[in-house]
Amino acid sequence: MFKPILGIIGGGQLGSMLAIAASKLEIKTVIFCDDIDAPAQNFSNEFIYGQYNDQNKIKEFVDKVDIITYEFENIPYETLHKINKIKPVLPKPSVNRIIQHRLAEKDFINNLNIRTTRYVSIEKKSEMNSVEDLLPGLLKTVTLGYDGKGQHPIKSLESLDSINIDYSKGYILEKLVKLKKEISIIITRFSDQKYEIYEPIENIHEDQILKNSKIPAEINDKILEQSKLWATQISEELKYIGTLCIEFFIDRNDNLYVNEIAPRVHNSGHLTINAYNVSQFENHVRAVCKLEQIPLKKISNAKMTNIIGDQIINFRNKEYGENEFFFDYLKKEIKQKRKMGHLTTLLN
Ligand code: ADP
Ligand code: MG
Repeated sequence: MFKPILGIIGGGQLGSMLAIAASKLEIKTVIFCDDIDAPAQNFSNEFIYGQYNDQNKIKEFVDKVDIITYEFENIPYETLHKINKIKPVLPKPSVNRIIQHRLAEKDFINNLNIRTTRYVSIEKKSEMNSVEDLLPGLLKTVTLGYDGKGQHPIKSLESLDSINIDYSKGYILEKLVKLKKEISIIITRFSDQKYEIYEPIENIHEDQILKNSKIPAEINDKILEQSKLWATQISEELKYIGTLCIEFFIDRNDNLYVNEIAPRVHNSGHLTINAYNVSQFENHVRAVCKLEQIPLKKISNAKMTNIIGDQIINFRNKEYGENEFFFDYLKKEIKQKRKMGHLTTLLN
């Protein structure tokens, strides 16, 4: 069977875990990243350091690979589009263009008759005066946010005066959902109506950063079925190839909402490495490289804990039991709020 060389844009922990999964399948990887210390270079066959608009570096990268994928959604659309004219980029760049813009993303979801929280576009401060019914809410930059970055909680119109916001960036105001729970669904689409879907994962965030994930999620059957159906509809409508994550909110009345779509492997799916026969990373590589689709089998229940900032120091010195799996992302510098590693524990 032809084994393509896989190019991965982005060299963080997701790029690392994709490269590890690829090497298990005997697929060679080349990582292209704008961080000279990118941890994924420890796991890939080759590493190219360059800016995402450096035409010479992009050409060097594209010449070396057969298929290109990416580990994060904030790569300029123009870059992906240009590359796609020379070698296939999967998931296709048009998917990324929708999802990297919070307004386009929410409009897309609502057009499928799938529920999101209420939202409105905000481009200048005066527009805030007419949106009181969306408060309390969250003002989020329409592009480039992650792990809660670029988000301002807004309690009331009066509170606006005490917050410094550069409205020229372009914002979306979302009504705050009274959360009972958050879940996510990871799904890998191989081709028309061909999927592998993982069971819903329950997630706990702290300071808008994912702290813990676990399976099974404690949810009712209706939410279980609805979340799987919506995830399938979204990936089919996008004609998505590869692994995709849908983040959901459940409110106190057990209403389900789609929060956002991540067009890539996702932090909440790290437990799939140990809890399933095929991980989200391996499934992504299988789908984009057109390898065999293997039916998913759960091996165990599991929980995953993110290790953030200097917590990593303790974890590096611990001893682990045989049901515990510690991953060190090998990031050079410890920073506050930076994801440094994770621990997955298999449960009965
Ligand atoms: P990011 O791109 O940073 O992951 P999210 O929109 O997923 O941004 O927000 C991060 C977290 O903040 C969510 O997982 C949730 O805990 C909280 N959050 C975001 N938007 C809302 C909302 N409209 N209502 C309630 N909680 C929210
Ligand atoms: Mg999110």
